Amino acid sequence: MAKGIDYSKARYADQGKLMSAQIPVAVQKLMRPSAAALEPYDPAFSPVEVNLSANENSFGLPDGLREAVARSLAKAPTNRYPLPLAPSVREILSEMYGVGPEHIICGNGGDELLFNLFVAFGGAGHTVLHCPPDFSVYDLYAGLLECDLQEISRDPQTFDVDEKALIAASSEATLTVVTSPNNPTGNVISHDLVVRLCEACPGLVLIDEAYMEFADTGSSCVDLLQTYDNLVVLRTLSKAYALAGVRLGYMLASPGVISALAAVRQPYSISVLDQTAAKAVLERREELGRTLEQIKEGRSRLYSELQGLSSKGLEVWPSQANFLLVRLPHAHEVRCQLRDDFSVLVRDFSSAPGLKDCLRLTVGTPQDNERLIDGFRQILEG
Ligand code: PMP
Repeated sequence: MAKGIDYSKARYADQGKLMSAQIPVAVQKLMRPSAAALEPYDPAFSPVEVNLSANENSFGLPDGLREAVARSLAKAPTNRYPLPLAPSVREILSEMYGVGPEHIICGNGGDELLFNLFVAFGGAGHTVLHCPPDFSVYDLYAGLLECDLQEISRDPQTFDVDEKALIAASSEATLTVVTSPNNPTGNVISHDLVVRLCEACPGLVLIDEAYMEFADTGSSCVDLLQTYDNLVVLRTLSKAYALAGVRLGYMLASPGVISALAAVRQPYSISVLDQTAAKAVLERREELGRTLEQIKEGRSRLYSELQGLSSKGLEVWPSQANFLLVRLPHAHEVRCQLRDDFSVLVRDFSSAPGLKDCLRLTVGTPQDNERLIDGFRQILEG
C-alpha cells in the first residue's frame, strides 16, 4: 500500500457519496420497470481498523507473491485492449482442473458471471430456484431480469437445505442455484444432492463454490462436470486467493453453456491488469497454502471462543467457509458497538429474512480475531 494514503478511508468516503444519489422519480419513469425500484448496492463499509464484513482474505498476499504481481503488472501492456477470454488465466485453470479451456470462462469477479448467467438463461417465463437465506445477488438479478423466482427456504435452525422440496421444485426450474459453502450460513451440500439435482432439473444447476477452498477436501462437486452437461460451478479469486480488489472469477461448465456465457458478456470486462495479476498469483498459488491453513485454524479457534459465550445468549453455527454466522440478543446494537468502540466491522443480517439477530463474522488474522472476541466479551459480559 502506498505510504501516506489512507486507502480504506478514501474508499469509504467515495461509497458515501454514491449512496446519497437517489434515482429521481422522473428518471425512474424512464427505466426498465424491474430496475426502477432498485437501490445502489451498499456494502455498508465504514472506516474501521479491522474490517471483517466482506469475507475478504485479511492476510493479503504473502510478500513473495505480492512482489511477483508487482513485477508482472509493471510489464503489462495497458495500451492494448485485453484479450476477451483471458486465455492465459484460462490455460492455468484448465491445467488445475484437468479440463479443456472450452469448459472454463473467466469474468470480472464471480458477480459478473452470475449476472451473465441470469442474462443468458433468465428472463420472463424462466424459473430461478434458490434456497434462502443465501447470497443476495441471486434475488437481485432474478428480479432485474424478470425471472419467475422460486424459493425453498432452509431449515430456520440448522440452515440445511430441504432436499426433498428442492428436488421436487427443481424439476420445474430453468436455473437451480445452491451455494456451497453457503453465504452467510457456512454449510455445504452433499455430492449426492448435486447428482440428484442435475438429474431432476431440466435446466441448469449452478453450484456457487465461491468459498470452497476453505471447506473439507471432497466437498466440491467439480468432478461431476464430466457427467452432467447441465452443471455449472462458480469459483472466484476474491476469497482464498486474496484478490477481491482484482476482480477475477470463473465458471466451469459444458462447452455449450460456456459459449452461451461468452456470447452475452462484455468483451473487455477483464482488464489487462486483472488478467496479469490473476495469472501471477495462480502460477505461484502454492504460496497461499499457509494462509489458507491459518484461516481454517482461526475459524476453529474463533468458533470455540464464541461457543464459550453461549451463556450470554450467543449461538454460533459451524462453517466450512472463511466466516461464521452468530445469533445474539440485540445483534444490531452489538454490531454498532463493535464498530464504534472497538473499530471492528462485521456484517449485519439482523433484519434479513430468516436471519433475525444474526451477524456474519469474517475470519481474519489472529490479531483481528482476538480483537473481535475481546469486543464481544466486553459487550456481552460488561
Ligand atoms: N458467490 C458468493 C456466494 C459470494 O459470497 C460472492 C462474494 N461475496 C460471490 C459469489 C462473488 O464474488 P466476486 O464477485 O468477488 O468474485
